[in-house]
Amino acid sequence: MFEEENRQPTMKKRIALFPGSFDPITNAHMDIVRRSVSLFDEIYIAIGLNSSKTPLLTTEQRIGILEDIFRDTPSVHVASYTGLTVDYCKEIGAGYILRGLRNAGDFDFEHAIAQNNLQLEPNIQTVLLLASPGYGHISSTIVRDILKNGGSIDHLVPQEVLNYI
Ligand code: ADP
Repeated sequence: MFEEENRQPTMKKRIALFPGSFDPITNAHMDIVRRSVSLFDEIYIAIGLNSSKTPLLTTEQRIGILEDIFRDTPSVHVASYTGLTVDYCKEIGAGYILRGLRNAGDFDFEHAIAQNNLQLEPNIQTVLLLASPGYGHISSTIVRDILKNGGSIDHLVPQEVLNYI
């Protein structure tokens, strides 16, 4: 009975929002997107503009990088948004919020956000993908720290990021 009620119309597109700061996008984010492309018809990678963090890259730079990277991937769109993530999902018709998990710390954080988003909008499901082996230690924060201290980030980010820095 539940199956009948929950069945999606066969033509409904599976649209996912992958929200984040992407300051900058890392090889680990790229891995999450690469593995999600076959799960969803469309993915919106969107920079949430609510963060209080002081960014390394401006929103325009981050959007430029993302557009360079995904220019030849028609199912991936690049955007930015303000306000509630679930409201932006409704605006773009996304039924899924895509997030990545590095470790148990990420899980606790993502768990709380996903529960709150479910209360705000029960029809939008959060999909959590575990980091692939070899990617769990990468974070934008560490990339920024290495860069600030003069180290190389070549092995942590796509070439398009290096072009901007
Ligand atoms: P936020 O500022 O919302 O944490 P980020 O840009 O840092 O956004 O990350 C966006 C998403 O990518 C988050 O779900 C984050 O957990 C995930 N993510 C970041 N780094 C990794 C990684 N190394 N492996 C898996 N997921 C990751």
